[in-house]
Amino acid sequence: MNEDRQLSRRSLLRAAACAGVGLAAGAMTARSAMAQQKASKQAMHYQDKPSGDKKCSECLQFEAPASCKVVEGTISPNGYCIAWVKKP
Ligand code: SF4
Repeated sequence: MNEDRQLSRRSLLRAAACAGVGLAAGAMTARSAMAQQKASKQAMHYQDKPSGDKKCSECLQFEAPASCKVVEGTISPNGYCIAWVKKP
């Protein structure tokens, strides 16, 4: 009887540990999905022309030939948005 109780407690602890690992994995998946989401062009006030001397091809976020790390869709090297950051 006492042995049954110990087994039962051990089983419960093991089940709780598995549930914790599952929850942590789920949280990590949700976090990485959010990190991979890009902003819309509209939200970032994207335009297909430069703003003064600021253009996508000279932005830290630009990925040649025509994409961006933070804004979704096709990006013109001569475009611009409010997330512009000068390449170092
Ligand atoms: S200016 Fe905006 S759209 Fe262009 S590369 Fe930089 S972050 Fe992306």
